[in-house]
Amino acid sequence: MSDKYAMTGGCMCGAVRYEVIGDHHGVTHCHCHSCRKHNGAPVVTLAGYKNNQVRFSGDQRKIYESSPGVGRAFCGYCGTPLTWEGEAGDLGYFFEFHISTFDEPEKLVPTSHAFEPERIPWFDIADDLPRYAGFSEDSPVLHHGPVTEGLPSRKA
Ligand SMILES: [Zn+2]
Ligand SMILES: [Zn+2]
Repeated sequence: MSDKYAMTGGCMCGAVRYEVIGDHHGVTHCHCHSCRKHNGAPVVTLAGYKNNQVRFSGDQRKIYESSPGVGRAFCGYCGTPLTWEGEAGDLGYFFEFHISTFDEPEKLVPTSHAFEPERIPWFDIADDLPRYAGFSEDSPVLHHGPVTEGLPSRKA
């Protein structure tokens, strides 16, 4: 199995670096309000790893507790959002890295959308992935693929 390879990433200024070992536990577009707020973005894309797969180096990341037990990590110098992290049931302490902080984010291909009901109406992606009501692993699939209404269009 391919459980030995590593991927690296870090913040914009390079002060906080990380390495993850082995296969991720899912790559998901998250439309939830909290993720969008933390990143200042219309959607974020996250890759999940268990605590024993993750190593940080360089400066300590800062953690903002967005709700009890949920940390949102960022670089204290440049402010780059890095993770959602916290206890996640059977997975133990779990990290969801914002994939755009990886050095090679193109290698992490999304397989689902989470919190589809919180998606900003004017934003969508033309994939055919399942769209879940909440966290993808324990919520119903609402539909596949993009919506056909609510998106802006050219005037002419
Ligand atoms: Zn930084
Ligand atoms: Zn989210």
